[in-house]
Amino acid sequence: MPKPDRLVANLVPLVAKLTLEQKVRLLSGANFWSLYPEPAVGLRRVVVSDGPAGVRGEVWDERSPSANLPSPTALAATWDEARVHRLGGLLAAQAREKGVDVLLAPTVNLHRSPYGGRSFECFSEDPLLAARIGVAYVRGVQGGGVAATVKHFVANDSETQRMSLDARVAERPLRELYLAPFEAIVREARVWAVMAAYNRVNGHTMTESPLLRDILHGEWGFDGVVMSDWFATRSTEATAKAALDLAMPGMGSPWGDQLVAAVSAGRVDEAFIDDKVLRLLRLAERVGALADVPGDAAPGAGAAAPRTDLVGTDVAGVGVAGVGVAGVGVAGRPAPPSFTPTELAGELRAAAAAGFVLAQNNGVLPLAPGKLRRVAVLGPNAARARTLGGGSATVFPPYTVSPVDGIRAALGRPPQAAGDPVEIGYAPGAYASERVPVAPLESLRLPDGSGPGAQVSFLAEDGTLLATETRATGSYTWLFSFGPDIPAERVTRIEVHTRVVAEQAGAYRIGCSGFGRFRMSLGGAEVFDTVLRLGPDGDLAEGLMTPPQYLHPVTLAAGQELDLVLVREADPDATALLGASIQLNLDPPHGTAEEELARAAALARDADVAVVVVGTTEEVESEGFDRASLALPGGQDELVRRVAAVNPNTIVVVNSGAPVLLPWVDQVAAVLLAWFPGQEFGNALADVLFGLAEPGGRLPASWPASEEGLPSTQPVDGTLRYDEGLFIGYRGYDRDGRAPRYRFGHGLGYTTWEYLDATVPAAGTVPAIGTVPAMGIVPAMDIVPATGIAADVAVRVRNSGDRPGREVVQVYASHPGSAIERPVRWLAGFATVDAQPGEEVTVRVPLHRRAFEHWDVSEGAWALEPGDYQLSAGRSSGDLRLSTQVSLA
Ligand code: BGC
Repeated sequence: MPKPDRLVANLVPLVAKLTLEQKVRLLSGANFWSLYPEPAVGLRRVVVSDGPAGVRGEVWDERSPSANLPSPTALAATWDEARVHRLGGLLAAQAREKGVDVLLAPTVNLHRSPYGGRSFECFSEDPLLAARIGVAYVRGVQGGGVAATVKHFVANDSETQRMSLDARVAERPLRELYLAPFEAIVREARVWAVMAAYNRVNGHTMTESPLLRDILHGEWGFDGVVMSDWFATRSTEATAKAALDLAMPGMGSPWGDQLVAAVSAGRVDEAFIDDKVLRLLRLAERVGALADVPGDAAPGAGAAAPRTDLVGTDVAGVGVAGVGVAGVGVAGRPAPPSFTPTELAGELRAAAAAGFVLAQNNGVLPLAPGKLRRVAVLGPNAARARTLGGGSATVFPPYTVSPVDGIRAALGRPPQAAGDPVEIGYAPGAYASERVPVAPLESLRLPDGSGPGAQVSFLAEDGTLLATETRATGSYTWLFSFGPDIPAERVTRIEVHTRVVAEQAGAYRIGCSGFGRFRMSLGGAEVFDTVLRLGPDGDLAEGLMTPPQYLHPVTLAAGQELDLVLVREADPDATALLGASIQLNLDPPHGTAEEELARAAALARDADVAVVVVGTTEEVESEGFDRASLALPGGQDELVRRVAAVNPNTIVVVNSGAPVLLPWVDQVAAVLLAWFPGQEFGNALADVLFGLAEPGGRLPASWPASEEGLPSTQPVDGTLRYDEGLFIGYRGYDRDGRAPRYRFGHGLGYTTWEYLDATVPAAGTVPAIGTVPAMGIVPAMDIVPATGIAADVAVRVRNSGDRPGREVVQVYASHPGSAIERPVRWLAGFATVDAQPGEEVTVRVPLHRRAFEHWDVSEGAWALEPGDYQLSAGRSSGDLRLSTQVSLA
């Protein structure tokens, strides 16, 4: 149990001041994104917000833009703890600007299977990499005085039936794989909040699971708040007795009066309630939401006011109206770092490039811009890049730079501009989706013609107009609230009024997506009246990201404008809605699939180089559902084949958050895996293509060559068996002697490396438990880092190429002849190193004791099998250049 400290001593009297009703009220959200204030103890409202690729804030729309960071697979691909720590600080600054106290991130579930729909939001298939990057992320965020929430505890590694599935996980994989990143983040980064997952594990739903009290509290000494995932608290007494502290969101919480009654009747001990309230007050104190606590050296003083004055300037490249983050703190708490808009753009641009993985390259990259006359930029994602994945991770960036815009900006810059201009041709070449996208802002005009956008009105049953707002988008989402001044209970009808502008003449399809009854009129005449419903298993996230769609064909002349009114009412037959989502969809005239392919191939044939940007869509990678296939959607594979057939310098850029199959890989000159790289995608891509930046990434997950032998994410009778045990990702490939397309840890960069020697200077010593770097906040518990360091490996490498570069030196352990079941090899440590051409550097790679331990099931404890462990150092799990060994007792 944590030792009572001064802060606890001061919080206990506050808890004692509150009545049972006041205490219980604090334990459910006040609404979707905030907690109740309690003036009796000086507690202000605490605001929570998703993450992890930015801080969305309390509204889900474009009026509150947020910096869009690379998604977690991209961050993990950097293998760069210092960079991720810095980005954590940036997130803290953004959170403060938006009045957010608690960030609902990072997500550290593992890539058990590439089918997991939410893999883009999780770091890695490897627990050590996920732990190291996760620790850096949390330290960065909390170092800025904002709470991080590590989620989803635990085994929420896929989405199919996520609310109910029972993950059957044996003890060793549970400990050694799935709990491992949580443990490191609790013990080392001292995370202030944990989110309990929707699913069950070994028969217990996670909000009632004994793992909360036994492991999180009992073993790891967690002193923060366990909150439920949204609507995951499904019982009153069982959850209250488990170590769940906060039921989120407020609506539908089974605590409140029912919990008061259970405590009053003696069915739940009030001591449980007091512990939860104390934890909540400690969290509030940590984020500065509690007025002066006696004896507290750093009194809180309310939230920072949101900043609206930071409209950005451009950096070299392209970008518009960037927003900086001001680093405003809460009085008495460490202020997060500040970033001007230019610094922010630069940081995001560098971070994206640092995560790009150059998977193969016949020498075509980097391109010499001076030698280019014609460049073909092709692929559906080249103009409509995906910068982030779908679901609760959604943020609304102030701008995004598409690949084609980034390339245009780069080639338009001096010195190229001094010579003949480089011609850049663009064609989508293929459709990634049958789904018609949201109408772009340029094709929507306000009803009075005053500018781009749409007017959205909220009406009551009797037709009273309750509110109208002007929106700069064709996509609208509301979760339980239409905004502070709109009485949600009176809204029965939402109307969208706009004018559709036809850029070109031809056959359009205009329609809408959402759930509910929709009526659309064009030019004053009603064109449809339809009810759109989610499927029987429809998840809310799916309903918000890819709701059902209805389209109406219409032929328009170039420049024609047409009044559009869309009326949305509740579905008369549907059960209560959790939210509303409306999209206006517009499908402009285009050729047949064959015509589009031919156009792209023609551009490619005449170009010096063809850059094809392919990727997934929101129907493939998102929260709320898993992937049905790993193939690129739509006609994208055929597009790559057709382009490669006519241009030997075809560079394929893969814009996906997780692996896709690359069946044409032997026909192209280079493959660059770009992930969901955030708002600076296009600029970062241009930097890498033209050699201004190195593609610094290494794979955080094996990239499969086929769909054979991958763990399934489909529960059978509600149960998802983790039968592969310890053997996920590279551990599975190695055991089976199969090769993926690209191995875990793989990534080429632009220079070459020689591995000279590897030694273990302090072999066999297991020093005392290390100290945890201070974070500026008074710790409340005795922290025991997960483990000490078992050994340091010194690896000497030489940059043998002719460019400066950055290498990720990876050290894998193996234990031939071990008496227990083990992977062939496993990642034991890594370090990054920068070197100039010809430079030799020795890098120390610390290996934690835990990297050698296994969970002894019979003892119920960690154990270290004594003996000689083989250590191999190299560039990836499949490219190991040196070996040494360490003897551990
Ligand atoms: C997701 C969480 C998220 C929460 C709030 C849930 O559906 O699983 O990751 O933090 O919603 O948006």
